[in-house]
Amino acid sequence: MIKHPPVMRICISCKKAYDRKNLFKITKDHKQGIIFQKGMGRSAYICKSKKCYSDSKIKKKLQKALKTFFEPEFVDIFEKEIASYNDNPNKGI
Ligand SMILES: [Zn+2]
Repeated sequence: MIKHPPVMRICISCKKAYDRKNLFKITKDHKQGIIFQKGMGRSAYICKSKKCYSDSKIKKKLQKALKTFFEPEFVDIFEKEIASYNDNPNKGI
């Protein structure tokens, strides 16, 4: 078994580097628009510390990082995903 080093990405809120597996990924997909944890295209990452993902400015920061504006549909999805993680951080995403 070859062990690959973890892919590190920077949290847009605290600016610390984390293993990509331990981050929420928000992607501006070429076809599907803004999507959560999937997709190809420009992506922004948020770490799983409550301080970052529940930051009141996090959606603003994400929109700035992705150079886009979120549709209300995506804001709904985002808030549900974050809330479900917040309720049960051990289930993983
Ligand atoms: Zn962070």
